[in-house]
Amino acid sequence: MRLSRFFLPTLKEAPSDAQIVSHQLMLRAGMIKQEAAGIYAWLPLGLKVLRKIEQIVREEQMRAGAVELLMPTLQLADLWRESGRYDAYGPEMLRITDRHERELLYGPTNEEMITDIFRAYVKSYKSLPLNLFHIQWKFRDERRPRFGVMRGREFLMKDAYSFDVDEAAARVAYNRMFVAYLNTFARMGLKAVPMRADTGPIGGDLSHEFIVLAETGESEVFCDRKLVEMPAPGDDFSAEAVQAVFDERTALYAATEEMHDPAQFEAKTAEGDRLSARGIEVGHIFYFGTKYSAPMKAKVAGPDGQDAEVHMGSYGVGVSRLLGAIIEASHDAGGIIWPDAVAPFDVVVINLRANDEAVSAACEDAVAQLEKLGKDVLYDDTDERPGGKFATADLIGVPWQLTIGPKGLSDGVVELKRRATGEKVSVPLAEAIERLTA
Ligand code: ATP
Ligand code: MG
Repeated sequence: MRLSRFFLPTLKEAPSDAQIVSHQLMLRAGMIKQEAAGIYAWLPLGLKVLRKIEQIVREEQMRAGAVELLMPTLQLADLWRESGRYDAYGPEMLRITDRHERELLYGPTNEEMITDIFRAYVKSYKSLPLNLFHIQWKFRDERRPRFGVMRGREFLMKDAYSFDVDEAAARVAYNRMFVAYLNTFARMGLKAVPMRADTGPIGGDLSHEFIVLAETGESEVFCDRKLVEMPAPGDDFSAEAVQAVFDERTALYAATEEMHDPAQFEAKTAEGDRLSARGIEVGHIFYFGTKYSAPMKAKVAGPDGQDAEVHMGSYGVGVSRLLGAIIEASHDAGGIIWPDAVAPFDVVVINLRANDEAVSAACEDAVAQLEKLGKDVLYDDTDERPGGKFATADLIGVPWQLTIGPKGLSDGVVELKRRATGEKVSVPLAEAIERLTA
């Protein structure tokens, strides 16, 4: 992609109402534009990262056995009356009336709708376990939308819903999502810690939030330091393996403010391991049994022929919030530092003298070679001065910068810089490409 043909409206200064660094950097890097409080347009660079994150979430859901569908954003109020949540939800729900005076709402979540889909088709225990997910825009009329995509009103969520014959089976489904979440966040370069959480308006009795530690986080959290460094568990999703991961992680203390018990924290955690910090909730999983299946009469015939209510769980990931969380965890004074897996481009090729034919030809050759190797390349072919180009490349956080100018060209070298470390080497193009594709 040629920068001169791309749409990258960067800003020198962040607007003064952007309070936290991720919001400032997303605006400065031309990733999002606010259209109303908590409602954003996703500009090309922001959309590229959003899609990368969405795809990692999708792949890890599927790896854990969940099946993708897509439910609409608008839902009938009557469906929510069946569970009793239409009245219970309050002003966060955006209520809409259509031309026939029919009451609709813009979905803040989908427990009712998925239960309705389930009960329409699934009649036997033989169809279980089942876990269905979608990645869809939600609307919650938050009292205080702020921090950019972190607390939006319209935001992209992955929500999965599991259906099982009994509590024991539902706990296996829960543990599978627990493991899938650890894998998902690790792939994005994040250290997310599962913490016992309050179940809130979703209801139920077992719940964990996945929290990324960051000073600007909205939640106060308490945990054993050892949890922060634990590696991703990998892809064994057998009932035994996921139970072992769940047991290992939950043996150590970790709780959000609402669930925090200082006496327990002290009893379970050595003083040097006690971490109290702020965190960003990037995922939240719930087991809530028959809370929705009972009032909505979602039943299956069991092996004995008797109908039984299904046991359900729901599992959310804040896909759009993750951009903010990743930037909070990975930036420096120059801008964003994208982890490779979610970066909008793999490499930016910087042409130091765009009006020089030999330099431009060398750049185009480098771009062509990299693209042939499957790299997603941003080619800065603009006539901006070098300082401005380096600043933009640092700001937008592409993991590698490959700079080609007249001096290097006459010496037979290009400069390769790793954004995360600032480390630079001057090497022949072939060697630079080798390092980039290693
Ligand atoms: P919070 O406590 O932050 O308000 P929640 O507990 O209401 O979130 P859930 O219902 O658990 O949210 O939603 C699943 C995930 O969706 C959350 O873990 C979070 O990552 C994301 N999310 C929730 N609300 C927002 C929002 N207003 N803007 C962006 N992402 C959100
Ligand atoms: Mg939550």
